[in-house]
Amino acid sequence: MPETYDLVVIGAGSGGVRAARVAATHGAKVAVVEEYRVGGTCVIRGCVPKKLYVTASRFSGLFELAESFGWQVDARFDWPTLVANKNKEISRLEAAYVAGLEKPGVEIIRDRAVIADPHRVRIVGSGREIETKTILVATGGHPFIPDIPGRELGFTSNEAFDLETLPRSILIEGGGYIAVEFATIFAGLGVTTCINYRGDQILRGFDPDIRTSLEAGLQEHGIRLIYQTTLRKIEKDGDGVLVTFSDGEAVPFGGVMFATGRNPNVHGYGLTEAGVKLTPGGAIEVDAYSQTSVPSIYAVGDVTGRAQLTPVAIREGQAFAETLFNHNPIAVDFSQIPTAVFAEPEVGTIGLTEPEAATRHGEVDVYVTRFRPLTNTLSDRPDRMLLKLITAGNGGKVLGCHIVGPGAAEMIQLVAIPMAMGASKADFDRAIAVHPTAAEELVTFKAPNYRYKDGKRV
Ligand SMILES: Cc1cc2nc3c(=O)[nH]c(=O)nc-3n(C[C@H](O)[C@H](O)[C@H](O)COP(=O)(O)OP(=O)(O)OC[C@H]3O[C@@H](n4cnc5c(N)ncnc54)[C@H](O)[C@@H]3O)c2cc1C
Repeated sequence: MPETYDLVVIGAGSGGVRAARVAATHGAKVAVVEEYRVGGTCVIRGCVPKKLYVTASRFSGLFELAESFGWQVDARFDWPTLVANKNKEISRLEAAYVAGLEKPGVEIIRDRAVIADPHRVRIVGSGREIETKTILVATGGHPFIPDIPGRELGFTSNEAFDLETLPRSILIEGGGYIAVEFATIFAGLGVTTCINYRGDQILRGFDPDIRTSLEAGLQEHGIRLIYQTTLRKIEKDGDGVLVTFSDGEAVPFGGVMFATGRNPNVHGYGLTEAGVKLTPGGAIEVDAYSQTSVPSIYAVGDVTGRAQLTPVAIREGQAFAETLFNHNPIAVDFSQIPTAVFAEPEVGTIGLTEPEAATRHGEVDVYVTRFRPLTNTLSDRPDRMLLKLITAGNGGKVLGCHIVGPGAAEMIQLVAIPMAMGASKADFDRAIAVHPTAAEELVTFKAPNYRYKDGKRV
């Protein structure tokens, strides 16, 4: 008789690792199957290396700024050193994740898994079949690449961290947060950088003031933005590529990066054969407890298409394990998800955008300020900081907060706390300012800059 597991998790990324660890801590017999590296996208080729590279890229601006404070800097950048140091740190983190799983007794199977039926998982390499009461699909997503001639000449975020050399110039196709973050990285490291986006402005879905401020900031950092154009084809051109745009113009670049979205990893896993329903967008359909249409199969993280963010995948994994293995049913609240864009300038955002607040609440107050951060005032850096608070009418509940500028990501994490508590404008006003900071503006707003009545700006 083969041994039966309580839980087999497919994918040791943000969601899968948390679910496996918590379930095992509650006494469940758990195996996690991972075909690549433990830690998943965030640790190996997402958030962590990205933030390290953004940090590397910011030094060029800081060296410039340093001169306005009297420093003389003679700096050179070495790409292979950054890649090697990043690799060391990622390996350290991977080992920590492995230890975190092994400590409560999770078995790690380094192989590819597919679902054989609602209670059996097949390990592809070894051919072994595992019986299990529950399956958790936490397989994440993969970069989508448009189907154009020469697409194989481009690369995605998966490869970007380990390029052998930095290209002299780069075209980044896409307008989402990954596109602007990599534009920041490449431009800061001295690569001539251009973003091409088929839409009319970067960061679709973000507050309009964030989109406009970040757009201006990227341009001030020398990044060229091309809108409402697509790529027709890419051809080899010496050690670079020749890109032909939809208007027929052909331009040489050192490289092309696709940041054109990510699709859930759902195909070739035996999901539909087992009866698991997908959403119209191609993600796994789940209920509030991450259960799929097949009672013994659950799914968390990017593969469910809910919010493609690590803390959300972790929260879903935790809630799943608490619900099933600790008799503590938890449905994740997706209503207020703080998030950051680690571009230059940086973005932090939470809650409703101005158009969403106006449509949903009708009566809305908008407080907004723009100014040069103190660190820039001795230089001719034009970057401006934006802080914006959106509240229900007459100083009601804070509905949204949007920040662009240095420290925006750290600030928005802290704003998320009063917002989770349902804070009103009066609660923000009661806080005493910390001076001189940029964040003090959030607690010193007086009258709204403008209001909405019946959903219309007045
Ligand atoms: C460039 C980039 C930057 C990002 N930056 C941020 C950020 O700053 N902040 C943030 O919150 N989020 C960020 N994200 C998103 C974040 O990485 C994901 O939301 C998060 O990793 C999702 O976790 P997950 O558990 O759903 O999937 P993943 O972490 O993707 O893990 C899925 C795992 O499943 C494995 N797998 C897949 N199929 C199989 C199979 N059949 N058998 C065995 N194993 C399998 C994969 O190898 C992978 O390890 C970024 C993503 C990218 C690409």
